[in-house]
Amino acid sequence: MTEDTWGRVQEALKRNVGENNYKTWIEPVRLGNCRDGIATLHVPTNFIGNWVSRNFGDEILNQLALSGVPAERLAFEVDKISYGAASSTQAVTARAQSAAKTQAAAGRNGVLPGAPLDKRFTFDSFVVGKPNQLAHAAARRVAEGGEVSFNPLFLYGGVGLGKTHLMHAIGWELQKKSPELRVVYLSAEQFMYRFVMALRDRQMMSFKELFRSVDVLMIDDVQFIAGKDGTQEEFFHTFNALLDQNRQIVISGDRAPVDIKGMEERIKSRLQCGLVVDLHPTDYELRLGILHDKVERYCEQYPDLVIEDGVLEFLAHRISTNVRVLEGALMRLFAFASLVGREITLDLAQDCLSDILRASDRKVTVEEIQRKVAEHYNIRLSDLLGPKRVRVIARPRQVAMYLAKQLTTRSLPEIGRCFGKRDHTTVMHGVRRIEELKARDAQIADDIELLRRALEA
Ligand code: ADP
Ligand code: MG
Repeated sequence: MTEDTWGRVQEALKRNVGENNYKTWIEPVRLGNCRDGIATLHVPTNFIGNWVSRNFGDEILNQLALSGVPAERLAFEVDKISYGAASSTQAVTARAQSAAKTQAAAGRNGVLPGAPLDKRFTFDSFVVGKPNQLAHAAARRVAEGGEVSFNPLFLYGGVGLGKTHLMHAIGWELQKKSPELRVVYLSAEQFMYRFVMALRDRQMMSFKELFRSVDVLMIDDVQFIAGKDGTQEEFFHTFNALLDQNRQIVISGDRAPVDIKGMEERIKSRLQCGLVVDLHPTDYELRLGILHDKVERYCEQYPDLVIEDGVLEFLAHRISTNVRVLEGALMRLFAFASLVGREITLDLAQDCLSDILRASDRKVTVEEIQRKVAEHYNIRLSDLLGPKRVRVIARPRQVAMYLAKQLTTRSLPEIGRCFGKRDHTTVMHGVRRIEELKARDAQIADDIELLRRALEA
């Protein structure tokens, strides 16, 4: 591996992540050795390492693969010597600030404290489906600017469902419409970093002034500051000051405010006083829509790419964890196909993605099975788990026990406990009964097939 390789990778990254991101995050990084599928990157600080890993990790892996350095993952090493230990943090701050400066109109009281926006994360590239339509609509409303209608907007949901994407999209849109607005986006982690730096450098006054002078503040992954008391306190004051001035605030978290552990009650309740919307796990249609959208964009760049029918459907069906993994899988397929110059077939996909496919095999829970079965037979969940023994309830109960045995790794006694503390022999009897019925009752066989597919989707 040579300097050249990394130079080429950096060039490609510059095109993909944009000049600002490049200058701030990619330029300071050096490629070390690549051994056992791990490519080591040297970075000036942990903070930069984390940021690069989180935001550009997949992209770097793809570009490395395209340059003939296939690696499965990246390792980051903080390299004090080559950057000069004493000045490293200052250099980082300076870089981050210069990026922030171009991010939005700098003015009034100094440079904005935000992080650069990813140019891929726009409303235009956000695919809307049932699971995310509310969050999308709320984000759109905030991006319209004008009168503040709900404050704060709190977006929550599992990883890779589009929270960060929506926040950046709001940022881009506001900048486009009203370049004079001071829009600041940063992760809670960066907020804390800035807070700690300000404490260290005795710059608390300017820190406070700076954050209180923004028009729109977006803080990503707020759960990060749970349990970090000093940062929480400062966050709370900034937050209140901005709310009082009727400035728009957008916050994201991995769960609803009430469920964030280690977060002060008063903060939780303030977080809830605006609009709280969640991004639901993706469904098949949304995943397929996202894949089609990405392929279209990609094919504009690489018109020679051929994808066999059924490959996207296969991916949408099998990779149901999150959109980031789905995108990563697609990128890997693209990279591989362009390396070996082959059409992307189902076989290629299965080979090339076997690890991802294995990891995302869905783990169904007994609770999900019970809910789906109750829904399917149109009975109450409490009846399904309760003592009633009439056929219309008892049969679905047995079906649910059968599915629990088939689709989960739970033992019979464990399953019994999940069904209103029933004995394991009752479960065994139920499972056997359904096995018999399935063989001669087409209706039951159909029901089970349908339920199984719904649960595994
Ligand atoms: P989160 O912040 O919720 O963990 P991100 O916003 O980082 O998730 O999304 C992960 C990846 O999936 C990003 O590359 C993003 O562009 C993509 N993504 C998520 N949801 C969508 C969507 N509805 N349409 C297009 N891309 C999406
Ligand atoms: Mg995020």
